[in-house]
Amino acid sequence: MNSNITADRATFVSHLECSMTGERYEADRPHGLSRVGRPLLVRYDLPAVGAALSRNVVAARDTDLWRWRELLPVRRTASIVSLGEIETPLVPIPKSGGPNVLVKDEGRLPTGSFKARGLVMAVAMARELGVTRIAMPTNGNAGAALAAYATRCGIETIVFCPEETPEINVREIAAQGARVWRVNGQIDDCGAIVGKGAAEGRWFDFSTLKEPYRIEGKKTMGLELAAQFGWKLPDAIFYPTGGGTGLIGMWKAFDELERLGWIGPERPRMYAVQASGCAPIVRAFEAGAEHAERWEDAATVAAGIRVPRAVGDFLILRAVRESSGRALGVGDPAILRAVDECATKDGLLMCPEGGATLAAYGQAVRDGLIEAEERVVLFNCATGLKYPLPDAPQWLDRHQAIDFEMFG
Ligand SMILES: *Cc1c(COP(=O)(O)O)cnc(C)c1O
Repeated sequence: MNSNITADRATFVSHLECSMTGERYEADRPHGLSRVGRPLLVRYDLPAVGAALSRNVVAARDTDLWRWRELLPVRRTASIVSLGEIETPLVPIPKSGGPNVLVKDEGRLPTGSFKARGLVMAVAMARELGVTRIAMPTNGNAGAALAAYATRCGIETIVFCPEETPEINVREIAAQGARVWRVNGQIDDCGAIVGKGAAEGRWFDFSTLKEPYRIEGKKTMGLELAAQFGWKLPDAIFYPTGGGTGLIGMWKAFDELERLGWIGPERPRMYAVQASGCAPIVRAFEAGAEHAERWEDAATVAAGIRVPRAVGDFLILRAVRESSGRALGVGDPAILRAVDECATKDGLLMCPEGGATLAAYGQAVRDGLIEAEERVVLFNCATGLKYPLPDAPQWLDRHQAIDFEMFG
């Protein structure tokens, strides 16, 4: 049994706070968005965490997500629903990326994507706070992670997917015990249905950033990176950005680690990568805007980042700007080429969203935004096995004479 999970819990949550106005909210009861309709952030008593915990204590623990428990919101061990949330490896891709490029391969997590990090936390908190029925709009991976964790602890789930959601995702959501519907619209159209049902009291709304705890789960990507890099962060991070939970979460993690004195003030440049067929954050970044307008007619093969409107837009843009990073758009052909290159040259099968980060990295090097010597992390957020693969149509009849010369 994992000792990180059997240990007595000791969370240090002090309160929640509106990310826009700073207004305080009480912990230990269910929350959606703040009064002004923006995400709530969880705040901790960091001096008390610092007194209870050191880098060495963390280093001595098993390397899974729960080693960070003092910096996570769950109060009671019994609330945890785990499917084995391992620390994901940093995989070099020297041929397709270069000597200083590492891929954080999130495809190894339960349900095959990093949505497991956010949902394991959000479901544990829902359980702790007595929620019994959850609904969610999803492009696929979040719904699968929700279904798996909620089913495991007996919470009922209702999931709405845009019509273009990959078939495999809709099926895995159903297979893991959720009730799932396709909807003729985009993810925010599905979100409107969830919001309406929540307003009628039918269920709890688990849309991206509309409950406070997914960010805390995604934050562990930043905590892990700090530990994996020996408490000195990489020079740049390329993150495929839909709702932006992970980028916002990592930025929060770095801030908490600095307040603990575990890292210095240096930060990686954060590159928010979007598909050029759905790039509201890129457009807002280039316009110097604080908020992003909805992207009409969104279309890309990278379903996980087909998000026309993000409720945390200003938090993404703020992190990107404060870090001296950028928001970058890449086209579908470049995304698919990058997936192909990484698989054929380095043997790592990325998802299209991961491919987008590799394509954006190549472009950033060519444009002089990144030096080839800089240490870079790309996020591969899901296993490439969840996505349609190119045909491999060759066929052999074993009853005929075989021309062995053709194998070379
Ligand atoms: C959800 C998802 C993303 C986007 O993550 P956010 O943190 O919501 O921006 C990227 N890639 C994949 C595969 C996803 O499932």
